[in-house]
Amino acid sequence: MREYPVKFDKCPLCGCKERLLEEIGNELRQKGKVGDRYLSSADPPISMLQLDPTKPTLSAPSVTAITDICARCGFKYTTMVIKQDVPITGKIIQPGQGKQPGQGPGGPFPFMRG
Ligand SMILES: [Zn+2]
Repeated sequence: MREYPVKFDKCPLCGCKERLLEEIGNELRQKGKVGDRYLSSADPPISMLQLDPTKPTLSAPSVTAITDICARCGFKYTTMVIKQDVPITGKIIQPGQGKQPGQGPGGPFPFMRG
């Protein structure tokens, strides 16, 4: 079994260990603008979620690849891969609850009238 998170500590092209997003993240952390667990990434998280809809579940496996940009050559590469179980917090809307698309005032595209 592989241990997670998997980390890559330097640029695969030039070997530089300085990374732009990490630097910006550290700066924000020092200013107290983000928490300790804040991770900046050049890419949005990758969802590997493929659930069997016939089986009830409270959590889903999630894999996130954190990418950063080399401060020397600008190459974007993966710095960390995180595997975790994410609790499913989505709310199931029952019929009759909430607003359905197209039923609001003015229909689905109120800004397109006239
Ligand atoms: Zn580089």
